[in-house]
Amino acid sequence: MKILVTGGAGYIGSVTTQELLNQGHEVTVLDHLKEGHPEAVDKRADFIQGDIADATLLKKTFSKKSFDAVMHFAASCLVPESVSNPSLYYQNNVTAGLCLLEAMRENQIPKIIFSSSCAIYGNPEKMPITEETHRSPTHPYGETKWAFENILKWYSQAYGLKAVSLRYFNAAGATEKLGEVHDPETHLIPNVLKAALGHLPHVEIYGNDYPTPDGTCVRDYIHILDIAQAHILTLKLEQTTAFNLGNGHGYSVKEVIQTTERVCRIKIPTKISPRRWGDPPSLIANSQKIEKELGWRPRYPALEGIITSAWKWLQNHPEGYSTKTQKTEAH
Ligand code: UDP
Repeated sequence: MKILVTGGAGYIGSVTTQELLNQGHEVTVLDHLKEGHPEAVDKRADFIQGDIADATLLKKTFSKKSFDAVMHFAASCLVPESVSNPSLYYQNNVTAGLCLLEAMRENQIPKIIFSSSCAIYGNPEKMPITEETHRSPTHPYGETKWAFENILKWYSQAYGLKAVSLRYFNAAGATEKLGEVHDPETHLIPNVLKAALGHLPHVEIYGNDYPTPDGTCVRDYIHILDIAQAHILTLKLEQTTAFNLGNGHGYSVKEVIQTTERVCRIKIPTKISPRRWGDPPSLIANSQKIEKELGWRPRYPALEGIITSAWKWLQNHPEGYSTKTQKTEAH
């Protein structure tokens, strides 16, 4: 199939691009490279440097090639930044996304696969979380993802667009060539590995007084190759729906640090810091819906394997990708 990947120079977009190409699809990547990395874009893909908010560029892109689907990864994705600057998140994740949808509508692109997030559930009491769990985001990032899912629902009903929202839990891990680099880096596993490498003096543990077994937050970490594979499986769907994507097993911040110490064989210094605003104590997925409907199964569910893949990548790329990325808005 012919697929347009927005944000294909970013972490999950680049891995999905690679996997799509490996499985014989034709891929065009659209990325403005303000945060993404040119080296992360597979050489086999066509590459367009540009913004999903650029209606003229989208028109040109869609008139040149008839795409079967768009995989929409381009978004701002840092929770703390979304709290301090919500305007940026509504602009990049909602307004710019609408621009993309309008261009798709005008050019009759039939399908979109959207990077949604477990952040749409907010702070649910009951674990694991199913797709029916009440949606109640606690920060602008989660709000924008939920807003866009709703836009997709109504566009689907009115215009016949097929839209699949994939609600990722905590994307983690690396492939041989592609890994996680954000600036600033706020995610747990890359920061723990940076501390292991000596690039950070310690890992900050944001709160140890949560109502969880060891007092630190629990998350469901999922390998990016499993996320990529879920995207590819959804291409065969002819309906509008949403799926959770996680392993169904939660690990605390302390367990992630201990596992990393085992993987790296290094004692990692830690510092207990105040809670980070908006962090729910626990987020664990029930992904049975995608397992039943599409036969998706995580191939790399073990936390140790996920961390090992990210550690190998970081050792080979201690400074990240070679070109410096600018600190910016979206990827
Ligand atoms: N976290 C932490 N130290 C860090 C980064 C994250 O203690 O340097 C915690 C964070 O508060 C959350 C968990 O680790 O409870 C996962 O955070 P991350 O940013 O990786 O993903 P999120 O669940 O926020 O999307």
